Amino acid sequence: MKVVLIVCDGLGDRPTRALGGLTPLQAAEAEVLDKVASKGVCGIMDVVAPGQPPGSDTAHLSLFGYDPWKVYSGRGAYEALGVGLNLKPGDVAFRCNFATLGGDGVIVDRRAGRISSEEAKVLSEALKDIRIESVPGVEAMFVPSVEHRGVLILRGEGLSRKVSDIDPHKTGVRPGVPRPLDDSREAERTAKALSEFLEKAWKRLAEHPLNRKRVEEGRPPANAILPRGAGTLPNIPSVGERWGVRAAAIAGGALYKGVARAAGFEVLNVRGATGTVNTDLNAKVEAAISALKDHDLVFLHIKATDTASHDKKPELKKTIIERISRAVSPLVEHVESMGYYLAFTGDHTTPSEVGEHRGDPVPIMIMGPGVRSDDVDRFDEVSCARGGLGRIRGMDLMRILMDYLGRVPLFGE
Ligand code: ZN
Ligand code: ZN
Repeated sequence: MKVVLIVCDGLGDRPTRALGGLTPLQAAEAEVLDKVASKGVCGIMDVVAPGQPPGSDTAHLSLFGYDPWKVYSGRGAYEALGVGLNLKPGDVAFRCNFATLGGDGVIVDRRAGRISSEEAKVLSEALKDIRIESVPGVEAMFVPSVEHRGVLILRGEGLSRKVSDIDPHKTGVRPGVPRPLDDSREAERTAKALSEFLEKAWKRLAEHPLNRKRVEEGRPPANAILPRGAGTLPNIPSVGERWGVRAAAIAGGALYKGVARAAGFEVLNVRGATGTVNTDLNAKVEAAISALKDHDLVFLHIKATDTASHDKKPELKKTIIERISRAVSPLVEHVESMGYYLAFTGDHTTPSEVGEHRGDPVPIMIMGPGVRSDDVDRFDEVSCARGGLGRIRGMDLMRILMDYLGRVPLFGE
């Protein structure tokens, strides 16, 4: 027995004016999704907790069966795992942006004019041999990922993720100063090491020939990196250890790949899976079908629904849902013909009139042999609330799926 879990990011929504009071899911003509709803069992799900807006990282920890309140240890680690870095226990990882500081030290551009990956790589070379002298036994590594993004890792004994963000998330202000967020010696050491690294890195970047050239050409210099979201590896058993399944993940964005890697999924690289609106959905669906050959649990992540929501475009979100419905058709057929299970849901609600994550539950449906099909035949937030699953918690979903697979041991005798 096998199961495919499809998660559309930020899928849940609220009634929107642009769609005559309907949610994008209600307005969408999503024939394949409705077919799954009518064959399967439906419900709504509080991914982290009722009324709690989840980040995509805590939401996915929940969906993979962990209690995020207990195991979440910052975003940076997932970002690092997601770009393919290997973290050691105790490493502190930060997400970083290349940014432009003006002459007065104020942030002019948080993305350094969306610097290209090639140029970011050249600049990163200059940061390779920076040594931390003020804190003994600590090394710093900066690795660029895509465009202006990168990851900084501090490695050594006695570090902590309890340090403040340097990136203030806005322009026109100075970057933050590294501060310990608790009274521990570890947080203090980490803040000190981070300070020294940044001071040296910004100096080298400011003097770099490539940045001089960018200035001459009237382009913003990438003269700073701004770390945020300090995180350490979560201490969690893999889904393999926990349920005895072989698990594969198909996702575009680094964060999703990172959470999946932390949970012991094998992350498959799919050409065209970019995590953007233009991502090649068909290629991801094909990859999911072929991953089912040698995996028991296949996780397929689709980002575009959340992007449209953040951009406050309900009509685009509706169109994307319709596109997803058509694209998953071969996967739905495959799952049915093989007698496998399919679960389809979102990781949180991102109302497309609000443009931010909110705490409303998301719709969920599960199709497969023996599920108690209910009378819901439309896949949307309102119809699913009448379904047989009722209202479940995100962290219970994996157990529910694994029970269909016969992988959950009896409790008691
Ligand atoms: Zn999300
Ligand atoms: Zn989002």
